[in-house]
Amino acid sequence: AVLAALAGATSLALTVSACGGEEGVAADEGGTIGIAMPTRASERWLTDGKSVVEDLKTKGYKTELVYGDDDPKKQVAQIEKLVEQRVDALIVAAIDNKALNGVLRKASAADIPVISYDRLILGTKDVDYYVSFDNEQVGRLQARHIIDKLGLEDGKGPFNIELFAGSPDDNNTKFFFDGAMHLLQPYLDNKQLVVRSGETEMDQITTLRWDGPTAQKRMAKVLAESYGSEKVDAVLSPYDGISIGVLNALKADGYGTAGNPLPVITGQDAELASVKSIIAGEQSQTVYKDLRQLAERAATMADDILNDETPELNNRRAYKNGVKAVPAYLLQPISVDKSNYEYILLGSDYYTAEDLK
Ligand code: BGC
Repeated sequence: AVLAALAGATSLALTVSACGGEEGVAADEGGTIGIAMPTRASERWLTDGKSVVEDLKTKGYKTELVYGDDDPKKQVAQIEKLVEQRVDALIVAAIDNKALNGVLRKASAADIPVISYDRLILGTKDVDYYVSFDNEQVGRLQARHIIDKLGLEDGKGPFNIELFAGSPDDNNTKFFFDGAMHLLQPYLDNKQLVVRSGETEMDQITTLRWDGPTAQKRMAKVLAESYGSEKVDAVLSPYDGISIGVLNALKADGYGTAGNPLPVITGQDAELASVKSIIAGEQSQTVYKDLRQLAERAATMADDILNDETPELNNRRAYKNGVKAVPAYLLQPISVDKSNYEYILLGSDYYTAEDLK
């Protein structure tokens, strides 16, 4: 890979100096980067795809962007095709983090460097770098919101809480949940928080492919089976699509009407529907991750690798993927609720006031 990159860089440098341009990769000469995203069904990945493409174009690269429709086999086939096309680098947000070993071996054999995007790819040495957010912090921010809203630090309670986690095949799921439980567990231990369904184990609370309707069904079942005259006071939800599903089940059960307030419900991604729901006083919180920054990081990393420079890294531990410790750059997530959404989301131009109407 190094040799190929060097050869590429040398011929590029020649091209550029012949044109009297600046050092670096000339426009249209930077090669092609393959970008494999998981799904179009959630807004965030559309923003990711679009931003990565724009950033790479600015740096002079061509791009091939594909979406796997949340189907692991389809994603493997898409990446296989990109490898056959001999793209110069791959940026991959995995659907099933353990399904990519075979195809990434082919990428490595073809000297194609691989950046694991947002979700860490597990069980393979054929992944070069990881760029993501501090995923444990995402969970901590969700728990922090529940603790503050319920007044747990003031000793209030007991309150009923239900726990939802993300897709079992996404490495982030465990980080979000562990981050949250790190802060919530003491209140479960001292019974200020009670999970009436008794469902606290990963295999009971995960939501395959982060699917909102799947979460809605589970919430409806939990309400029917474990909440007679009792009320849910909080729901730990890891993602806005799941939060909307949970909200639908709660509303169908009579929550959100006079004398029957909705529980505290967390989320993630600051998707438009959820931000509007927060403004309307329904969902209570989301975690904002500036995807434009993530995209820019990934594009810069790809550019650095192809120019044989070491990408900037910022986490000392490196994420272990079961086979190797993958060098990583992690960005910081921000908790958003009704009190700060204007400042954070409008202030950063993530949304316009018009979007939020
Ligand atoms: C991402 C989250 C997203 C979830 C569902 C996770 O891997 O980190 O931002 O909400 O997938 O798409």
